[in-house]
Amino acid sequence: MLTTVLLLGMFAQAPEYDLVIEKGRVIDPESGLDGVRSVGIKGGKIAAISARRLKGKRVIDASRHVVSPGFIDLHSHGINNISNLYQAHDGVTTALELEAGLPAIQDYLEGRAGKAVLNYGATVSHTALRVAAMKKYAGMPMKNSLSALAIKGRDDSLEDEEEFSRLAYLMEKGLKEGGLGLGVLPAYVPGASRSEFFKVYQMAARWKVPVYTHVRGRGEEGVQEAIANAAGTGASLHIVHLNSSTRGALPWILEMIAGARKRGIDVTTEAYPYTAGSTFIESAIFDEGWQKSMNSSYGDLQWQATGERLTKETFEKYRKQGGIVIQHSMKPEWIRLAMASPFVIVASDTMPYAKGAHPRGGGTFSKVLGEYVRELKVTTLVEALRRMTLLPAQRLEALSPQMKNKGRIRVGADADITVFDPETVKDTGTYETGPQFSRGMAYVIVNGVAVVDEGKTVENVFPGQAIRSVLTSSRKQE
Ligand SMILES: [Zn+2]
Repeated sequence: MLTTVLLLGMFAQAPEYDLVIEKGRVIDPESGLDGVRSVGIKGGKIAAISARRLKGKRVIDASRHVVSPGFIDLHSHGINNISNLYQAHDGVTTALELEAGLPAIQDYLEGRAGKAVLNYGATVSHTALRVAAMKKYAGMPMKNSLSALAIKGRDDSLEDEEEFSRLAYLMEKGLKEGGLGLGVLPAYVPGASRSEFFKVYQMAARWKVPVYTHVRGRGEEGVQEAIANAAGTGASLHIVHLNSSTRGALPWILEMIAGARKRGIDVTTEAYPYTAGSTFIESAIFDEGWQKSMNSSYGDLQWQATGERLTKETFEKYRKQGGIVIQHSMKPEWIRLAMASPFVIVASDTMPYAKGAHPRGGGTFSKVLGEYVRELKVTTLVEALRRMTLLPAQRLEALSPQMKNKGRIRVGADADITVFDPETVKDTGTYETGPQFSRGMAYVIVNGVAVVDEGKTVENVFPGQAIRSVLTSSRKQE
C-alpha cells in the first residue's frame, strides 16, 4: 500500500512532457536500442526514453507499433506542401531535393520558412547555374523548378575560363546560402564535357561538400566516371537511384562501390523500390538512341497526364510538347538486389505531385517495409530502418550539423518520429492511381508536432525547418 502511494507520489512529481509515446517498440539503429519504451518529447526535442511510464500533456498508445526515427528522404523533387503531404503519410519527416538541386537556394529556404509541413533543403543546381554562367544566356531567369532538367543550354559547353569562374562563383554563393552540396546531372547535360565535370568535382572537394549525381549515359560507364572523379579529387560522392541508372549491371556495380568504399573513397548510393522510372520526355534521357541503350521502347512509356502508353507517333508529339513520362523498364530482381544491399539508402525520387504521377511519391518507404521486409524478407526491419534514417542523416551531417540530431531516437535529438504498424504497413498507390496515402502509418511527428495523427492529416501545421549547410572558411581548402 505504502509503495503504491510512494510510486503515485513520485509519478505525480515526475516532469510532464508535451507528448509521450508509450508501449511502442522503439528502434534506434545507431544505438541498437530495440525494445518497448516510453518516449517523452518536450520543446520539439526527445527529452526522455524510459522503460517506465512517463507523464505527458498528451499520451499516445503505440502498442503493437514501431516507434522509429522519422524517415529522411535524400531524393525528393516535391518542393511544395502537396507533394510533402503524400510523403508525410509515407513516414517521411525530412524531404530534400539533392539530385537536381535548385539555382536559388536563399529564395527556397526563406520562401518556405514557417510554411513547410516537412523539414526541407536542397543542393545547388550545377545544371541550371552552368547556363546562368554562359554569356549566351545572360539574364535568363533561373526558376526553382524541376524543369531545369530539360533546360535550354543543356547542349552547350562552357566556353572559357571566365564562364567557369562565374559558375564557381554562383555555386559557392548557393553553398553559402545553405545549399547541401552540388546537384550534378551528366545524363541531362550532353553539352558538358567530361573535364567540366572533373572540375566540378574539384570545386566540391575544395569546399568539402558532396556531389549528388545522376550519372552519365545509360549506366555503368557513368558510375565509373563518377568514382574516378571522386578518387581523383577527394570529393564525397552520392550516386542517386542506382536501380534505374545501372539496370542489369547492378550486381557488379554494387561490388565496385563496395570495393571503392573499402579503399576509402567516400561514395554512397540509394535506390527506390519500383521497376519504373519517371522524367521529362523532352530531356536528354530520350535523345537519339534511348531505345537501344535502355533496351526499352515506346510501349514502355506511360504519359503521366493521361496514363496512356505511347506509340512512335504520340512519343514524337509529346516530345515536342514536353512533359512527364513514366518508363516501365526495370526488372524486379534488380530492385530486390538493391533493397538487400547493406549500404544502399532508401530514397524515393518523388516527382512533383500530380494526379497520375509516379506512385513512389507516396509509397516508397511503406513499400520497402511492407513488401521487401514483411512479405519478401529481402532485408530485416531494423536494417531497412537504418537505411531510411541513420544512413541518410550520416550522409549529410558533416556539412549540416542539424542532421546530427536527426535519424536517431536519442535524448537531445529532434523529435522527428514515425510510428507505424509493422503488420499492416503498405503502399497503396499504383501507376494508375498515382500517389496515395500509405496504410499503417499511424503518427508522423516533425520537430515534436504531429503532421499525421491516427493516420489522418493534421491541417494547418507547418513544423518543417530548413536544413542548411554550414560552409565555414576552415572548410575551404586553399
Ligand atoms: Zn535522376
